[in-house]
Amino acid sequence: MSEGRIIKALSGFYYVKVENGEVIQCRGRGVFRKRKITPLVGDFVVFEADSPDEGYIIEIKPRENELVRPPIANIDQAIIVNSAIQPDFSTTLLDRFLVLIEAKHIEPIIFISKMDLISPEKQKRIEAYRNDYERIGYKVELVSSKASGGVLPLKDYFSEGVTVFAGQSGVGKSSILNALKPSLLLKTAAISESLGRGKHTTRHVELVQVNKGLVADTPGFSALDFQEIEAEDLSDCFPEMRSRKGACKFRGCMHHKEPRCAVKEGVENGEISPYRYKHYLTFLEEIQSRKPRY
Ligand code: GDP
Ligand code: ZN
Repeated sequence: MSEGRIIKALSGFYYVKVENGEVIQCRGRGVFRKRKITPLVGDFVVFEADSPDEGYIIEIKPRENELVRPPIANIDQAIIVNSAIQPDFSTTLLDRFLVLIEAKHIEPIIFISKMDLISPEKQKRIEAYRNDYERIGYKVELVSSKASGGVLPLKDYFSEGVTVFAGQSGVGKSSILNALKPSLLLKTAAISESLGRGKHTTRHVELVQVNKGLVADTPGFSALDFQEIEAEDLSDCFPEMRSRKGACKFRGCMHHKEPRCAVKEGVENGEISPYRYKHYLTFLEEIQSRKPRY
C-alpha cells in the first residue's frame, strides 16, 4: 500500500502523484460508490498498485475542504484576481469572493491585475484599497501580466500547497496562469508523456506544478451566491469582525440593529472600513431574504 495525492481525474481514472514525483494511474474501488463519496482531484489517498498504470484507490483521507466548481479537495489558498480597470475594480465583488472563500476555510490572497493600464490617480486609489485590505490582514499584490517579468516575483506564492484562481471573467486570470506557463506546460507534457498518451483536449481539472506548489489549471470558482452560508456565520467571514467576536453586548449580535455593538463601534472609530461594513449588511440582507431550501 502507498499514499499519494490525486492530481488529475479523467475518464474514470485517477492520477495519483507520490512523494518521488511519479504518477500512478488508478481506478476507484466500488466501495466509494456505496459510501457516496467520489475521489476528487486534491484528495490524499491510499492505493495499491502492481504497476504505474494499474492501481486501485482503497482509501480517501478526510478532506480539509472541497469546492464543487472546480471540483478540488484540500485547497490551501485561493488567489482572487480583480482588475484595476477593464472591468473596473469593485470592492463589492472582491468582498463577495472573500466571503465565499473564507466560508470554505481557504486562505484568500488578493491580486489586483492590469496595473499597467491605469492612470497615476487611479493607481493612488488602488494603493489606498491595498492598505485597507492589508490592514485587515490580507496579502495583496498589484500585478501586471503584460510587464516583462511581471508575474515572476509572485512565484513565492506557489512554494507549497494547492492554489486555485478565482475572479470574474476578463480580469486576467488566464494571462497570469499563462505567464507562469513555462513550468505549467513542461509539467503537463511530462505527465502525459509518462502515461504514454498524447495531449488530450477534454476540459478537465488538473493540478500542475508551479514552483514547489500545485495550481489548478482552470480559472474556476464560479458560484457567487451565498446559498451555503448562514446569516449567523457571515461575520466570521470578515476577519475584522471575527476578531471582535464576543465583544458585543448581546450574544448572537448580528451587528445590525443591536445597541453596544463592537463592530459598529469599530466602524465609528475608523478601525473598520465603512464600505466593508456596508457590504456585510448587503450580504446579510441577501442571505436573510433567500428562499428556504427544501
Ligand atoms: P480571464 O477571463 O480572467 O482569464 O482573463 P484573461 O487572462 O483572458 O484576460 C482578459 C483580457 O485582458 C485579455 O485581452 C488580456 O490580454 C488582458 N489582460 C490580462 N491581464 C492583463 C494585464 O496585466 N495588462 C494588460 N494590459 N492587459 C491584460
Ligand atoms: Zn455586534
